Amino acid sequence: MSVKRLLIVGGVAGGASCAARARRLDEEARIVVFERGPFVSYANCGLPYHVGRIITDENDLLVATPELFRDRFNVDVRIYHNVTAIDAKARTVAVQDLQSGRIYSEAYDALVLAPGAEPLRPPVRGIDLAGIFNLWTILDMRRIIEWIQTRKVARAVVLGAGFIGLEAAENLVRLGIAVTILEMQDQVMPAMDPEMAAMIQAHLAGAGLTLRLGEKVTGFDQGPDGLVVATASGDAIATDMVILAAGGRPRTELAKTAGIAIGSRGGILVDGQMRTSDPSIFAVGDAVEVKSAVTGADTAVPLAGPANRQGRLVADVIFGRGDARFRGVQGTFVCGALGLTAAATGLSEKALTLIPPYDARQRWEKVYLHPDHHAGYYPGAKPIFLKLIFDRNDGRILGAQAVGEQGVEKRIDVIATAMQFRATVADLAQAELCYAPPYGSAKDPVNLAGMIAANVIEGLVAQAHWEDLSASRAFVLDVRDPEEFAGGHVPGAVNIALNNLRDRLDALPRDRDIWVHCFVGQRSYVAARILTQRGFNAKNISGGFRLYLIMKAAGLC
Ligand code: FAD
Repeated sequence: MSVKRLLIVGGVAGGASCAARARRLDEEARIVVFERGPFVSYANCGLPYHVGRIITDENDLLVATPELFRDRFNVDVRIYHNVTAIDAKARTVAVQDLQSGRIYSEAYDALVLAPGAEPLRPPVRGIDLAGIFNLWTILDMRRIIEWIQTRKVARAVVLGAGFIGLEAAENLVRLGIAVTILEMQDQVMPAMDPEMAAMIQAHLAGAGLTLRLGEKVTGFDQGPDGLVVATASGDAIATDMVILAAGGRPRTELAKTAGIAIGSRGGILVDGQMRTSDPSIFAVGDAVEVKSAVTGADTAVPLAGPANRQGRLVADVIFGRGDARFRGVQGTFVCGALGLTAAATGLSEKALTLIPPYDARQRWEKVYLHPDHHAGYYPGAKPIFLKLIFDRNDGRILGAQAVGEQGVEKRIDVIATAMQFRATVADLAQAELCYAPPYGSAKDPVNLAGMIAANVIEGLVAQAHWEDLSASRAFVLDVRDPEEFAGGHVPGAVNIALNNLRDRLDALPRDRDIWVHCFVGQRSYVAARILTQRGFNAKNISGGFRLYLIMKAAGLC
């Protein structure tokens, strides 16, 4: 492919990455970036933190300017230029200069679409009232800041509890604003499993934020004292402002003008080189549908990492590195909320069970653990609540989720990287990771997750899960110490402390499954090994009493 004229639509994450890489690969090509907004290459991910004044200078959000693109990269960046149509046959685009109104056309040899996604605005009464904001662009952010600074904002409603909603909420709380989050689903962070989300929910409630799950907004009204948010449950919530964080929809209108194929998830379909159904047109970022690196199925993951890497890769494909291929997306993300960090990679249990062959429960297994983020004897150790999901047949890792105060994203990043090399749980057990007491443990949480999962696959220990307890006839054995048991226990559970177990075996049934648990799962694993070797049908309840408490509080068991 000989490319003398490269046009790029969209100048932020994917588009800007593509332009810079393209110039580094080809000094001669004419490269033009069209951006309909006033900014290119800015950090949308930083917007919530400027609202919360963690990032105090707005200029820090501007990674590059049109002038820098011109001077350093000889790239022609045209802000306030909207690309309105593609003539795929003639290989031209129609462009409107939004400042002068001039409409003109530009020819290309290769065209890269990086138009991003459109923020969803619920189609309800009053959605356009003053005081209701998206948080999607720098201009949105400025409007929010101006509203807060010029009015007495004491209350805010955030619509949506995905990562943008939680980050927005966190930053409003930081400003002393009382925040209510309304979420249509019955959990926060819908990309995570409900028991993981339950821990975030408990934390948010403890941090003074009001969380209303399963709550749909039906309209907005102007009240005597600010806005009023009406909900499907019949409530009317008075507030001084609303931030919409209900997700996004891939921008595909432009692609459609060229007759480019759109996928089942509504994104632009691309192949492994980010090429659309038209061989001269590529697409990247939030607008596209790509393959899941885990299952190979079509998926869409609107995150900055994939957008940036795809933009760079497309430049490689266009300028002579024709064998470059995108590996697919895993959906690796991290989000902080008021002192708690949640991170995940790969598939959640919810998502996995919809995809054959994993819709069959016997094809996969999960383990829960609560290791400290560094050596327990070193001051300040904080537990990480970690879930690992894996293929029961070959031990391949399918996904991981973690929630905690410290060290969360480090563990998920390690597992995410391992997954990209199609690692198994045995590989995690063997992984050599750095360790000193202030940073980790000789057996890192990643190693422990792998070891526990490998034990399950090897049949060393059978597992049970809290959500299956009520349907079972199991005898529940709690091997914690009596004082722990007295402080709270599962109804009907029998307490025999681990250290006394070998002397009390005659108190246990041989004609029923025995489900053993302790607080986090370590003592009960030892107990399960004792019982199994003595001929009992013992299963270790993964995640222990700590997980039971989380699930019970959230009504999940
Ligand atoms: P964008 O970066 O959205 O860029 C698309 C650009 O194309 C826009 O500027 C738009 O004006 C322009 N455009 C569209 N159509 C046209 C047209 N026809 N003509 C000219 N220009 C056009 N991701 C993370 O991984 N981690 C985070 O912490 C994170 N935080 C976020 C926080 C917020 C508040 C937001 C909004 C997003 C966040 N994201 C985060 C998501 C991340 O920003 C996006 O996934 C990423 O920016 C997508 O890159 P993109 O190039 O596809 O689209």
